[in-house]
Amino acid sequence: MLHNMSLASDPAIAADAVPTFAVEPSATPLAVNERAALLTNPGFGRVFTDHMATIRYSEANGWHDARVVKRAPFQLDAASAVLHYAQEIFEGLKAYRLPDGGAALFRPHANAARFRRSAERMAMVPLPDDLFVESVRAIVRQEADWIPDIEGGALYLRPFMIASEVFLGVKPSTEYLYAVIASSVGAYFKGDAPAVTLWVSQDYTRAAPGGTGAAKCGGNYASSLIAQAEATRQGCDQVLFLDAVERRWIEELGGMNIFFVFDDGSIATPALTGTILPGITRDSLITLARDMGLVVREEPYAIDQCRADAESGRLREAFACGTAAVVTPIGTMKQKDGQFQIGSGGPGQITGRLRQALIDIQRGHAPDPHGWLDRVI
Ligand SMILES: *Cc1c(COP(=O)(O)O)cnc(C)c1O
Repeated sequence: MLHNMSLASDPAIAADAVPTFAVEPSATPLAVNERAALLTNPGFGRVFTDHMATIRYSEANGWHDARVVKRAPFQLDAASAVLHYAQEIFEGLKAYRLPDGGAALFRPHANAARFRRSAERMAMVPLPDDLFVESVRAIVRQEADWIPDIEGGALYLRPFMIASEVFLGVKPSTEYLYAVIASSVGAYFKGDAPAVTLWVSQDYTRAAPGGTGAAKCGGNYASSLIAQAEATRQGCDQVLFLDAVERRWIEELGGMNIFFVFDDGSIATPALTGTILPGITRDSLITLARDMGLVVREEPYAIDQCRADAESGRLREAFACGTAAVVTPIGTMKQKDGQFQIGSGGPGQITGRLRQALIDIQRGHAPDPHGWLDRVI
């Protein structure tokens, strides 16, 4: 068995190998001054770097052909399984610039584990965690100059995997293409963490028991877009989904988890029952809140109770969280029969403290007691 990945004759990657990626630098990288211009205000998800990492899977060769190459369109047969039955999963994580000029990923092993669980749920072949982590490290090493030196700036990594077998029969694919692309990003929401307005979706749900709600798959997003479009029509920023059975219990947003802060200083978030995506930001904030001495409960919270608590003043703050937008205060919730404000309607104090504590660790401005940073350079 081959011990590491190179351009050796046998391209298969042994399960116990420390993977290395064959790097083929782009012959046409973006000019330094053009890149600098893009990085002054990159927005979110529209500036892409020069390279991508790819790995292929086939039954005959296992995981093989690990490369860092020029970012370019894929050639896909029109009968590729992903285009018909949507066997697709993805991840999202960020690399941050450190004060000494180095760069670090935030909890990449947690993303690797979640990617593996997503693959299992979608009947895809799981990528070994080490290969996942090494693929994102390889891209960060290659593209560190693409981390914007602006407030909120980061390199957003998007690992994903598609079913690439050419076959129209309905069954799990036997071939997969895994890739990582990178995008230079600034703050997700324009302005300094403004408070967002949520549209409580009463007609559409995101995930049902036994479904794919806990898997990070593109299909979950496809089915949420109509509700997000409704939210936008209603003048809201994001959609809030309720449970699919009773249409009563608060679950999460289309791509972010949700937290509530009460007048006794305690914090609550819906428990992970299988229909909610287990956010790594969610998990990190639970830990940081407990570090601060706050009481954190993972428990069901009904939308009617939420409204009553907002109106009585018992509910003081609410916020959404995820890798892309970090921590975003929620000011108002709107539903068919009216809207209600949470707390002052603006960013709350505990929300701000948690957000700052997380950002300080991610950017190397505070000690990292839980070993969350993975220094790459
Ligand atoms: C990715 C995602 C989140 C947030 O997860 P993080 O690991 O914190 O980025 C929350 N909800 C959904 C539906 C997601 O896809």
